[in-house]
Amino acid sequence: MTVHFSCTQCGRCCHGLRLPLSVREAITWLRDGGEVQLFSEAIPWPEDLPEDNLPAQHKRRRSFAARSGSLPVRVIVVLMASFDGACPNLLPDMRCGIYDRRPRVCRIYPAELNPFVELEPAGKLCPPEAWQSEEVLRDEAGRWTDPDTVAAIAAARDADRIDAATKARVCERLGHAVAGLSNEGIVILSPSRERLLAVLEDAIDPGASDEEPIHSWQVLSNRSATLDMLRSAGTDSAAAPDGDAGGLRYLGFFQGDGPRPH
Ligand code: SF4
Ligand code: SF4
Repeated sequence: MTVHFSCTQCGRCCHGLRLPLSVREAITWLRDGGEVQLFSEAIPWPEDLPEDNLPAQHKRRRSFAARSGSLPVRVIVVLMASFDGACPNLLPDMRCGIYDRRPRVCRIYPAELNPFVELEPAGKLCPPEAWQSEEVLRDEAGRWTDPDTVAAIAAARDADRIDAATKARVCERLGHAVAGLSNEGIVILSPSRERLLAVLEDAIDPGASDEEPIHSWQVLSNRSATLDMLRSAGTDSAAAPDGDAGGLRYLGFFQGDGPRPH
């Protein structure tokens, strides 16, 4: 279905957001005084999936190889700029104060970066009138029509792929190896701005190897059935903490029931 859209510059998408950033964008964001967190999830990956499994290949490109106990996993780490209220770069007249160097995700919105996610106008922050424009955002064949959007999506996917090995090094240097189970929960790490900036600048060193180091990760869950399943698969797993635990927080997508005694 053709989707019509034109930005009304209402500024809603610049409030109370989580912006996924590339490694280079995160360095810029931190140097500008912003905060960045690490969102980590682990995907059980006992064997490589066929090339024609496109959703799996999409996850593979964004992740690095690791293990949890005896189970091979792949870990996706997202560098996330988070803010409540207005973005620190939003000007009083709702223009972006860093327009020419704003993150790619800001250039892409409200289009979708993930090729397997359908664009749902109702799920976007844009007001109804933005979708009543004559301009076409996505044509009937499902293609984005704006060349800048297409270029930003391609560049963001490239950065995801290139950054995966760097993120593995970043986690190693931060001593971070705890993740949620993909599709069930996420572990959020909030290092200090200074520490994360230093580690990112060090890890992005072009002299560093792009080879993915294989490290051991622990998988957290707030559901006893999941913990039982993870343990039976030989995974290094543990009950997710309630609230903040030393700069680390678990965000579960489902109601937790706590671990069963065993
Ligand atoms: S960086 Fe600019 S475009 Fe992106 S959320 Fe902030 S103000 Fe909006
Ligand atoms: S919410 Fe939509 S219409 Fe409003 S500024 Fe953001 S992209 Fe434009």
